[in-house]
Amino acid sequence: MPHHRRRWPVTEPVIDPREFRRVSGLFATGVTVVTTRIGDNVHGMTANAFTTLSLDPLLVIVCIDRRARMHPLIQEAGTFAVNFLHEGQEAVSRNFAGQPQESVADSLRFSEDDGAPIIIGSLASIRCAIHELIPGGDHEIVVGRVTALMCGDVGAHPLIYFGGGYRRLLVESEARHSAPDPFLNRKVRVYHEEWHG
Ligand code: FAD
Repeated sequence: MPHHRRRWPVTEPVIDPREFRRVSGLFATGVTVVTTRIGDNVHGMTANAFTTLSLDPLLVIVCIDRRARMHPLIQEAGTFAVNFLHEGQEAVSRNFAGQPQESVADSLRFSEDDGAPIIIGSLASIRCAIHELIPGGDHEIVVGRVTALMCGDVGAHPLIYFGGGYRRLLVESEARHSAPDPFLNRKVRVYHEEWHG
């Protein structure tokens, strides 16, 4: 059957984009840095619009702002990596979101093989080749075919983004090194610094 891109009728509710950001920011995510390489130059960009898409074939999605420098670069390279940040990499996230951090510049290391650049020391990284580009309003939906998986320190905790700020998981001490499953393990919850003074 041919693939039709169906469109639904648009009703135009008046929604303030700032309100949309505030409400959608209540969906907690991890934080990634998407990296790509053109020749010897590595470019990275912080992104939380990441999700897995398909198991057969193995596909993931990242959404890239059309105005971002990353947008033409990732297409030129054709390959990219998604680096999941751990809770100690908040400065890395800020650095790749347009706030250069001296501490990061000194310590940042990328993989040196031919593949898409991995940020050494990340929680985990996924290498991809571009599978499909789908227009998504002011963003491009980049569908990546997974070509390699790297896992860092399995005991490390993720960096979390929620409500416009960075958060971390609080795991009660005895559960700290068991693999936390947020659906089965009640001891895992998002830790709000505000709630604990
Ligand atoms: P620039 O703004 O030029 O570069 C990004 C930053 O990375 C710059 O500070 C640059 O100095 C640094 N940098 C790049 N390469 C290197 C390198 N090799 N070594 C050292 N530093 C380097 N935008 C999206 O499009 N999609 C998202 O899903 C998304 N999610 C976000 C989530 C969070 C939590 C945050 C804070 C921002 C998010 N953004 C997202 C916004 C995006 O990260 C910024 O707009 C970013 O600055 C866009 O990057 P750019 O490609 O335009 O390049």
